[in-house]
Amino acid sequence: MGLGYINDKIYSGQAFGISTHLPSFFEGSIGVICPACPQPGINMVMDISPKDHVYNIHLAADGNIRQILKAKKFDEKDFALCDGVAYMVANKEYLEYLKSVSPESDKEVSNPLREARSVVLIIRGIIALSCACHTIARPNGIFNMYHGERYSNTDYAAGKTLEQFKETSLPLELNYNVACKYKINIKEHMKFYVPEMHIKVHQESCQKQFK
Ligand SMILES: [Zn+2]
Ligand SMILES: [Zn+2]
Repeated sequence: MGLGYINDKIYSGQAFGISTHLPSFFEGSIGVICPACPQPGINMVMDISPKDHVYNIHLAADGNIRQILKAKKFDEKDFALCDGVAYMVANKEYLEYLKSVSPESDKEVSNPLREARSVVLIIRGIIALSCACHTIARPNGIFNMYHGERYSNTDYAAGKTLEQFKETSLPLELNYNVACKYKINIKEHMKFYVPEMHIKVHQESCQKQFK
């Protein structure tokens, strides 16, 4: 077993069963949850009024289409020991979810790099969800783009994050380059923003809406 993995288990407290003493919103995690963001039951009370916007969770989502993986030979014994218990989502479960998404309803959000089209790629980039105020990645908030940046990818990570707050009524806010399109089909109690530098290249109606 990898020494790094053993260290992570010890430092996170999971080797000593810390999950049994903490709220269940991220059981078994060896990832660090941003200590400055609200964590119900840890750095704030569990029950808050939904109107109390002091305790909003501010999230940011962004993709990196240069973080690619080319198709090549891999050592089959070189596998992840902590798949899905730190910052990346569990790969097997995620791939099963992607298979269940209908291609017609799942549009590509951004155009892939020109060079990415010319070689065989297994992974076409990553998307990460972090806290917008402190830029610390959310546990289970990073995922591979197997078929480019699509709404289904962001849905999955946003769903994983919402799951972590299911026992609380904390309002969530998401900053996302394409929030203007993404929010159309979201019925959850989330607010959406487009980052200030990105909104400048959106059409006029978006600029008025997200000013
Ligand atoms: Zn934070
Ligand atoms: Zn827009």
